[in-house]
Amino acid sequence: MTSNIGNGNDPSQAGHSGHDHAEHPGMAHDEEAGYYAVRARAMESLLVEKGICSPNEIQTMVDRIEARSPADGAKVVARAWSDPAYKSRLLNDPDGALADLGYRMPENSPKLDVVENTESIHYLVVCTLCSCYPRNLLGRPPDWYKSLAYRSRAVVDPRGVMREFGFQVPDSTEVRVLDSTADLRYLVLPRRPDGTEGMSEEQLAELITRDSMIGVSEARSPQTATAS
Ligand code: FE
Repeated sequence: MTSNIGNGNDPSQAGHSGHDHAEHPGMAHDEEAGYYAVRARAMESLLVEKGICSPNEIQTMVDRIEARSPADGAKVVARAWSDPAYKSRLLNDPDGALADLGYRMPENSPKLDVVENTESIHYLVVCTLCSCYPRNLLGRPPDWYKSLAYRSRAVVDPRGVMREFGFQVPDSTEVRVLDSTADLRYLVLPRRPDGTEGMSEEQLAELITRDSMIGVSEARSPQTATAS
């Protein structure tokens, strides 16, 4: 298998490389709905028809997820880096700690576990079955997270996958791969980079990337952050 998953942290490769929106004026709205869109609409109609949930409830859930982004996770991690008592609460009682910052997890939402990356253990999160992800905090997962390449290779060769994201885990660090499920999601607390003493929570949050909260890379160093 030759598929590369990571973008190697190269900003020039992020997003729409080799893809020009001018090629298709009017964007994609008039395109015929694809297989998954048709299937999602059919499931939605069935759920409503059978009285399991209302269109309003579905829209509320979509809005809630759309309103979240990695910036929300970054705020939480920055607080944990700055406040040891908060960090310990986050690790032991994630829901309570998140509520402290205004992130109340919806009722019946999957349990969220927070794991801390250290010099000796590095956690990497995957959903081998589909795309389970802490959407209530981080929003929608990146496309590569849902790819078969990532889902299979993260388990077989996690160090190789992380190298593709530009992150070389030292041999002395144990790598643990966590498989998310419908009932259990993970947030990775990345290591606080060196040279960040005295930085404010807002400044620290700038260093915390989505990928570092999945564990495929580490947080940015202050040097990298100012260079970009
Ligand atoms: Fe899943």
